[in-house]
Amino acid sequence: MALDIRIFPCLNDNYGFLVRDRAAGLVATVDTPDAEAIQRDLETSGWGRLDLILNTHWHPDHTQGNAALKAATGCEIVGPEEVRRAAPLDRVVAGGDTVMLGETTFEVTETPGHTLGHIVYRSAADDQAFVGDTLFVMGCGRLFEGTPEQMWDSFQALLRWPDETTIWCAHEYSAANARFTLSVDDRPETAAHAAKVFDLREQGRPTVPTTLAAEKAFNPFLRAGDAATFAALRAAKDSFVG
Ligand code: ZN
Ligand code: FE
Repeated sequence: MALDIRIFPCLNDNYGFLVRDRAAGLVATVDTPDAEAIQRDLETSGWGRLDLILNTHWHPDHTQGNAALKAATGCEIVGPEEVRRAAPLDRVVAGGDTVMLGETTFEVTETPGHTLGHIVYRSAADDQAFVGDTLFVMGCGRLFEGTPEQMWDSFQALLRWPDETTIWCAHEYSAANARFTLSVDDRPETAAHAAKVFDLREQGRPTVPTTLAAEKAFNPFLRAGDAATFAALRAAKDSFVG
């Protein structure tokens, strides 16, 4: 019941994640933006193996390393059915399913909105969640396939998690998200939170992970209150130049 988690930049603004179940020594990667970058971090980690790929959704920047990593390691690939349109997949999972990594149990929650089949993974015992492109620091995924109502419902599922849940987002969009947030939220505590984000980015450091508590406090999309308000905010963000 203990996880080691590594985060590293991939492509332009993606993050790669390696997760190890300490008890069994088994290793997973969440999404596969860049097989070479993931292989490099596997070497750096010294963890010596890759057992499992957990895909969150079908977009190429989350699945394009599946084939190469499977060929190199023989790992199992788990994800939503929609991944099949882009990459190999061994086991289809849906909401309510669980995926084991050694002694760690990842629960699957469906979060349609960014894509229709988007899922997220959470180890409740460790309070660690991998949310793909559903939620970002002070932001959320664009609605490429789903409706605002679907995404709003997806947020409600995440909001049932404990406040202390650590949230691992798949992109570093935080500075742009913070600029948008400041345009719709003039509370001093929000300005202070945004300042920390700008500071980390100036130092070239990741702003991920965040926590559910921080997003409940500062994420304007989670704070929207209802689907219609969320829809208006999402539309405003899509055209925001900040
Ligand atoms: Zn995506
Ligand atoms: Fe993405």
